[in-house]
Amino acid sequence: MKQILEQREKLQALRSSLRDDSALIQFTVNMPGANKTIYPSYELASLGINTIIKDLYIYNIEIKNMMFHNSTLGMIGLFKINEDPYLLKRLCIEIECENILSKYWDIDVFNESGRKISRKMLQLSPRKCFICEKTAKECAFIQAHPIEKLLQQVVLDFQHFKCMNEDCYSLLSNPILCNGGYENEKYITNR
Ligand SMILES: [Zn+2]
Repeated sequence: MKQILEQREKLQALRSSLRDDSALIQFTVNMPGANKTIYPSYELASLGINTIIKDLYIYNIEIKNMMFHNSTLGMIGLFKINEDPYLLKRLCIEIECENILSKYWDIDVFNESGRKISRKMLQLSPRKCFICEKTAKECAFIQAHPIEKLLQQVVLDFQHFKCMNEDCYSLLSNPILCNGGYENEKYITNR
């Protein structure tokens, strides 16, 4: 737990180091439990990050700069974009509903001052738990579901997605996977 808190602080420092007058999209994987790098965390992150890049491209939104960082929080993706942060947040909420795996993606948007744009600010309801109908926060707070059950659900959904999307899976997962693996690595891409 302490390690995760430290990583969250590092993540904030990473965001601050990138801060300028543009908005920032931050991708992290929404893995249950303390171990955020457990299988299939990396595959989920790869799919999530590639989906963000694909959707930004579809909407003709230019990425100024992007950074990927492999940490104990799992794979992290940061994207700097000159665009209205509210519009970006709406797009990211759509991405978080794109397929059966997108519930395992946490996509946050920060404005140019580093302030997080919440669902509440857009009058939207909080995210749902991926097991029951309650909110994710509620279930996490009272630890309503055993971690094993949650992790089992992640793996089941992942296998299901892989079976249903053979073509798209290989296309989506490759670019980031070639550059990472389950080890500490950091690289920056400037466009
Ligand atoms: Zn629940």
